[in-house]
Amino acid sequence: MKGAYVHIPFCEHICYYCDFNKVFIEKQPVDDYLNALEKEIIEGLSENDSRIETIFIGGGTPTALDNKQFHKLLQIIERHLVASELKEYTIEANPENLNETKLKLMRSYGVTRLSLGVQAFQNDLLKEIGRPHSRTDVFDIFQKARQAGFNNISIDLMFGLPNQTEKMLKESIDIAMTLQPEHISIYSLQVEPKTIFYNRMKKGKLHLPGQDIEAEMFELVISELEKNGYTHYEISNFAKNGFESRHNLLYWNNEQYFGFGAGSHGYVKDNRVVNAGPIKNYIKLVEDTGRAQTAAHPVTRKEKIEEELFLGLRKLSGVQKKRFYEKFQCQIEDLYSEEIKRLVEQGLLYEDEDKIALTRQGVFLGNDVFEAFLA
Ligand code: SF4
Repeated sequence: MKGAYVHIPFCEHICYYCDFNKVFIEKQPVDDYLNALEKEIIEGLSENDSRIETIFIGGGTPTALDNKQFHKLLQIIERHLVASELKEYTIEANPENLNETKLKLMRSYGVTRLSLGVQAFQNDLLKEIGRPHSRTDVFDIFQKARQAGFNNISIDLMFGLPNQTEKMLKESIDIAMTLQPEHISIYSLQVEPKTIFYNRMKKGKLHLPGQDIEAEMFELVISELEKNGYTHYEISNFAKNGFESRHNLLYWNNEQYFGFGAGSHGYVKDNRVVNAGPIKNYIKLVEDTGRAQTAAHPVTRKEKIEEELFLGLRKLSGVQKKRFYEKFQCQIEDLYSEEIKRLVEQGLLYEDEDKIALTRQGVFLGNDVFEAFLA
C-alpha cells in the first residue's frame, strides 16, 4: 500500500458550489471523530501492508479544527502513518482558518506540502461563490507559510464561475504568479445537485459563462501557466519541475491506497472500498467493530484495465505501453486497436512506440476519450 487519504469532513462555512462530503463544524463531535479515526487507522494497518509513501489529509477543511484538535490529528497521523518510507505529506487548508500555530505544528510533524484553497483573487467573486476569505488573507497566510518553511505549496483556483470574465481569470493567474506556488490545481465549476448553486440554476438565477467562453478560459489557463514555467502534467494540474503531486499521481497511476475517515473511498487489496457516513454512523461503526467499511467491490481484471486507461490518460504523459504490458501481460493495441485508431484519426489521441496520450484537443474533450475505453 503506497498512499493514505485521511478525510476530515468539517467546514466552518459551506461554499455555494460544494457537493463534497462535509458538514458544518459547529456542535459536531470532533474529538470522538478523531478517536474513531485513530482506531480505524490502527485496524486498517494491522491487516495490510502499510509502507505508506504519501499521506493526504483532505476534507472538508482539516484546518477548520481548532489548534488543539489539529494538534491531536497530527499526533495520530505521526503515531501510525509516518515512517521512513514517507515521501510526501500534504494537508489541505483554507486561508481563513489556517494560522501560524497550525503552520508551525505542521512543520514540526513533518508535513511537507500545503494545499491552499484560494479559488479566485477578487473579493466580490469570492463572496459570490460563498468563500469567506479575501485576497489579503491569501497573501498573508501564503507569506506566513513560506516563513514557516513550506517550500512546496499548491493553490486551488477555479474558472467558469458565475459572472467571472476572462479578464478576471487572467488577473487571478497574474496574482497567483506573484506568489509563485510550486503547484496549481485549476478546475472549472461543475454545478452539482444539492448545492446552493444548483437551486439558483433551477430558478434561472445563476449566470455562468457559456461553454465556448469556458473553453477559452481553459485555453488561457494552459497558455499562461505554461508561459510561466509550469508543466501541465494532468488535465487540471500544473507544477514546477519536480513538484507534481505524488499522492494524486497514485490515483492516476491506478495504485492502491487507504481511505480513512467518514465516507472516504479506498482501493485496498484489489477492492474499491467505501467507509460509513455520515459522521455519527461512522463513529458508531468504528467504536463497535474497529472497522469503517460498509461496501467493498472486488475489481475485476477488465475493470482494472479500463481504470488504468481512463485514469492514466488524465496524465499528459499518457499511458506507457511497457508498464501496461507488465501489469496485464497484454498489449493495449491488442485490446483497443479500433478505439485507438478512431481517436487518433479524430485528433484526440496521440500514439507512438512507447505510449498513448491525449493531444491538446483531447485535453479539452477528455470525457469523449475516456468513454471509448469503457465497456
Ligand atoms: S471549504 Fe471546501 S469542503 Fe468546505 S464547503 Fe467549501 S469547498 Fe466544500
